[in-house]
Amino acid sequence: MSEHLDLETIRDRLIAFLTNAGCNAVGVCNQEGLEGGPPSTDLTRQLEGARSAIVVSYPLDDHKLELYMGKIDHEPYQKEYIQVNNIVQGLMGETTNQLHKFGYAAEVVYAGNTPADGTPLDVMPSNERQREAALLNPAGEAYVMMGILPVISQRMLAAAAGVGFFGMSGNILTESHGAAIVLGACVTAADLLPTPALDRDANYCDECDWCGQACPTSFMSRTDFTTVKMGEHDHHKYSARLHPMRCAAHMQGMTGLSEDGRFSSWGPGRKQLSQNDDELFPSLIEIATDTARRPDVPGGFYDAQKGIRTNIMCSACNLVCHPERKVRAKRLKMWTQGGVTIQHEDGRVEAMPRDEARAYLDAMPIERRALYEDV
Ligand code: SF4
Ligand code: SF4
Repeated sequence: MSEHLDLETIRDRLIAFLTNAGCNAVGVCNQEGLEGGPPSTDLTRQLEGARSAIVVSYPLDDHKLELYMGKIDHEPYQKEYIQVNNIVQGLMGETTNQLHKFGYAAEVVYAGNTPADGTPLDVMPSNERQREAALLNPAGEAYVMMGILPVISQRMLAAAAGVGFFGMSGNILTESHGAAIVLGACVTAADLLPTPALDRDANYCDECDWCGQACPTSFMSRTDFTTVKMGEHDHHKYSARLHPMRCAAHMQGMTGLSEDGRFSSWGPGRKQLSQNDDELFPSLIEIATDTARRPDVPGGFYDAQKGIRTNIMCSACNLVCHPERKVRAKRLKMWTQGGVTIQHEDGRVEAMPRDEARAYLDAMPIERRALYEDV
């Protein structure tokens, strides 16, 4: 330990470090303030004896995200998203390093901290707190089956720590940059004093539903909502999330065209997933097989565990959401009127008006066209 400091000084110094490093919001939550949230808010699931968590938001570049939302260029935003994720992981790694030097155990919470991403930690309720939490916040069957429940939910921690608030999309919205941010967190045995959840008046979500309109698939329910109470704070409700593969198919570019055929995410596929969840997997297997036979889209995350690259092809629900309503309206227009996506033989994706995209597809040899649409 470099010097003996009280916990308040340690907390304030770490917040200053993270704010100076470019985070647009930094907060702290503790076990008490997370009480009542889902099992993924029990910090001890990741670190035995954990008492608190430091949570950050780091903003994405507005210009690059508007090139992406306007369907002008895919690559700069994809690179930006990967770089900001790496910056956030680096900042949280350094924060844990600092906590160790102050004499406290600490660990980074990785964004993909789910069994499907290879974490060995158990995400099923394993103590009384988690069992009660699971009853209050039941997990969706598909999320359990697919192993995509997080060990620790960064979103929940961010809401409790006052880094941001839930919008109807279920994303965390920050006061300065909306949902165009990357979250990061670390858990620690240091009993750091929490920062308060943001006041209801700070939440700019006016339930405009432009996140829902930007979504090319049926993922956000219009009729069912999720509400979470953590500590003494009732958080803003958000749309219940439907089958996660509907979102994943767009995020990974397996499919792209919206259900109404008017616009697309950056995925070049046009085949639609079945509307019936029971028939979802057969349609998904077909489009996943097509995707594996298409040329690789340049760039993307390289997953060292799986040895594969994954592209970023959607995120419209969070990128559309800006504190200023006129910016939100502009981004929705850009996304939904920016054309539909085709893929070139070298793998590049490009958006163009619907009639040009139709002509591009019609000119393809039939076996190539069949990788994108029903022929
Ligand atoms: S787009 Fe509108 S409804 Fe959706 S989270 Fe943002 S402000 Fe709320
Ligand atoms: S990432 Fe895309 S597909 Fe997934 S919920 Fe958001 S808008 Fe919909």
